[in-house]
Amino acid sequence: MPVIDTHAHVTPERYKQAIRTRGEWYGLDEHPGELGFGKFDISLPDRLAEMDALGVDMQLVTPTVGFYQYANELSKTRLINRECNNEIAEMVEQHPTRFAGMGIVPMQDPPSAIAEMERVMLELGMKGVVISDHVAGRTYDDPDFLPFFAAAEELGAIVFFHQSQDTIIAKRNSRYKLPNAVGNLTERALVYATLVFGGVLDRFPDLKPLLAHGGGYTAYGVARMDKVAGALEAGEGMTPVFKGNDGFSQQLAPSEYLSRFYYDCCTYSGSVLRFLIDAVGIERVVLGTDYPAPMVLADCVNWVRGLPELEHDEKEAILSENPARLLGFSG
Ligand SMILES: [Zn+2]
Repeated sequence: MPVIDTHAHVTPERYKQAIRTRGEWYGLDEHPGELGFGKFDISLPDRLAEMDALGVDMQLVTPTVGFYQYANELSKTRLINRECNNEIAEMVEQHPTRFAGMGIVPMQDPPSAIAEMERVMLELGMKGVVISDHVAGRTYDDPDFLPFFAAAEELGAIVFFHQSQDTIIAKRNSRYKLPNAVGNLTERALVYATLVFGGVLDRFPDLKPLLAHGGGYTAYGVARMDKVAGALEAGEGMTPVFKGNDGFSQQLAPSEYLSRFYYDCCTYSGSVLRFLIDAVGIERVVLGTDYPAPMVLADCVNWVRGLPELEHDEKEAILSENPARLLGFSG
């Protein structure tokens, strides 16, 4: 079965060419494409050669995070998102066995986000969308986002949660790359908690949420969510341990939603990956590397295959079977 990497990014060629020739693309400069950082300026032929060397048959690609542009004027964001999505669709069309795609959508305006998600799913044949962990600080328990999740469920779109720009940690300490090292993982746990406590997963049980970086601190911290929600105490129903209960609306113990999400294996640690698998179930974990960022899970296929903490069947599930099922390539 093909090896499929579900977490890989693309800085579009049309952006790179515009930056090289005139230094500008829809009002953006050289920063959003992260040119000169990691391997974001890699050419398509070089990418394919590197995938061959790594043993990766297919990448599920998304535009680089700088192109999400939630803080830009809506009309500009729509254009930038659309152009990025068109380029991803062209990559998939040219190399249908090597790439599948997910688009970016203007989440600052949910109706526009829904319209672009419908276009990428129905016209461009993509597998889903990638969205930031929050939208200008707003989390996804905000009722304004309910129509977006309803549409994603209806379309069968994967919703890939990924950081963009500063994470919440930057407000406290932005040295030592903490907004990346700690922030990304914190944001992912916040996504999980707000989707679960906000009742989004109850309303949309067929949603396909994919959490980058192994879901961050989610699996490690979910028992505390259970405790807060009153789900650890014996007896019928949940009784939150604090009075006033802050409007919890989830129907089940928070930990019971772990198996509703997908998680990439980008943990950099075999023992952490083992913990994740034991917490969420082997069928929910997929190969995801963050290629071609500096934080890439290096030599990913050999890394997974060499882990002493995993069984042979688990490795094959992560590398091939689970991504294929997530992408709808197999039952
Ligand atoms: Zn990434």
